[in-house]
Amino acid sequence: MAESTLHPWDRPAPERAGRPSAYALLPADFAALGAPGRSEHIFTQCQHPWAWVEGRPRLSREIREWMASSLDTALPEILERHASEDGSTKVVLGLADGQRIEAVHMPREVRNPRVTLCLSSQVGCAMGCTFCATGAMGIQRNLTAGEIVGQVLALLKELGPEKPHQITLVFMGMGEPLHNLEHVHRAIRVFNHPQGLNISTKRITVSTSGHVSGIEKLAKLAPRPWLAISLNATTDEARSAVMPVNRVWNLARLRHALAEWPLGAKEKLTIEYVLMDGVNDTVEDANRLANWMGPLRETHNLNLIRMNEHAASPFKEPVEARLEAFVARLKALGCFVTVRKSRGRDVQGACGQLIREESRRR
Ligand code: SAH
Ligand code: SF4
Repeated sequence: MAESTLHPWDRPAPERAGRPSAYALLPADFAALGAPGRSEHIFTQCQHPWAWVEGRPRLSREIREWMASSLDTALPEILERHASEDGSTKVVLGLADGQRIEAVHMPREVRNPRVTLCLSSQVGCAMGCTFCATGAMGIQRNLTAGEIVGQVLALLKELGPEKPHQITLVFMGMGEPLHNLEHVHRAIRVFNHPQGLNISTKRITVSTSGHVSGIEKLAKLAPRPWLAISLNATTDEARSAVMPVNRVWNLARLRHALAEWPLGAKEKLTIEYVLMDGVNDTVEDANRLANWMGPLRETHNLNLIRMNEHAASPFKEPVEARLEAFVARLKALGCFVTVRKSRGRDVQGACGQLIREESRRR
């Protein structure tokens, strides 16, 4: 976790056959690679999967042949779809080297066509949070930018929506996105590009366990997505016990990094807090949480999440009466608090339940 250590997973997987992925390229990259056509047009066609013909971008034969010989044009393959009763769908995607990731497609309401896509940034995760199924499987590798964008295009092609302004992206699937900042940020540049999906940075959220050096780097990048922090405990002792990252960057250090975050107009930080029965759900925790947030509490979103139980963790969801007391105290202390409705629980697609199928079977 220390900044200077180069981990094996810091090396991105080689794109198939060593070629750059067509989906991670910006218009200028197509031009630099000598694409035989207008680079903006090629980029737009690659990023609009609704217009594709036979699973491929709608482009002239000459360009398609050039792409086939110079680029990796494969998308992650949808291997499984698990539809939840609540309308969300968990999708298992296969990558070129046989690794699998999961993503979740969450339409907001039946009549409202807006959709949130919950994306993975790594195969597994190195952070080892003890309440999280992804953490329990360890880290396999980072996703490449092509795989991250490909994940979105594959979902849109299969499940929609067909209008880019209806899409919200959250990096809340498998992995710690700030452990893979270079590729995550390249993907964000592609999503945000006016000639591509043109997704505004206020509809792209990166959720981190509190990787402070990553937060500080992201703060300086443009385009800059919105930020969510998984807090999950209110004392260093309790937080270090469930989130090893806290031993490197403690609560005070994390709070300092948030104070330095250059908030845009109307931008809000989200603080996520997974409530676990008997671990972090007391009224004293609520007091400390409001205190830690300080001036952030009236303007920023505090998102409470019920622990989703799974086999890899001993923790249980909170008792409803304690959750209510917790919320009431936070509101009394002036916090802007919402309790997140868990989506896709019945198909293991909810927060912290994403895990490769093989590891689930093991
Ligand atoms: N690695 C990033 C993003 C992926 S985790 C992060 O930790 O922020 C997305 C969210 O799921 C985090 O807020 C995390 O705290 C939460 N989460 C993890 N395991 C959970 C579980 N078992 N129940 C409910 N939420 C969980
Ligand atoms: Fe990784 Fe986030 Fe799970 Fe922690 S909660 S193990 S950082 S995916």
